[in-house]
Amino acid sequence: MGVKTAFQLEKAGIKNIGKNFLSFQAFEAISVGELVDVMRGNVVKQKSRFTVQISKNLHMDVVEPIKYTNHSCNPNCKLDVKTGQLTAVKAIKPGQNITFDYCTTEYEMEEHFKCNCESDKCRGFIQGFKYLKPNEKKLILPKLSECIKENYLNEEDERVSIKSVE
Ligand SMILES: [Zn+2]
Repeated sequence: MGVKTAFQLEKAGIKNIGKNFLSFQAFEAISVGELVDVMRGNVVKQKSRFTVQISKNLHMDVVEPIKYTNHSCNPNCKLDVKTGQLTAVKAIKPGQNITFDYCTTEYEMEEHFKCNCESDKCRGFIQGFKYLKPNEKKLILPKLSECIKENYLNEEDERVSIKSVE
């Protein structure tokens, strides 16, 4: 049925990268545009470090392997929340962590953390889209999930209405 994902083809899987920290990693080269896997899980109201925001108040408690996909400020994959597809946007080498930008899917994260993605565009502390600087928000605008985009447009509306009151 359909295209097999890189995970199903065992080109990628979960690896313990120390201190029981699990990471979804490429075992073989993955090319740009390749389907890495599709997000699955139960829909829940309570967010956690393993959920992905799917609407204003709902989250998906994502199962392996996407559950263990780490964040990067300059990621090699994008997660399409609507279809659940995690797709490579860069060539991924064997041994590299598979990553996406959590700020494209999470408005306000349950657990904040210090990023060590080592990208020169690293934002440092990751707390969700809400906390990005205005220029950082603009940069990732085309990559946002629908509900984050909606939140962003609401923020813009608020700014405009604040200005018109002044
Ligand atoms: Zn970073």
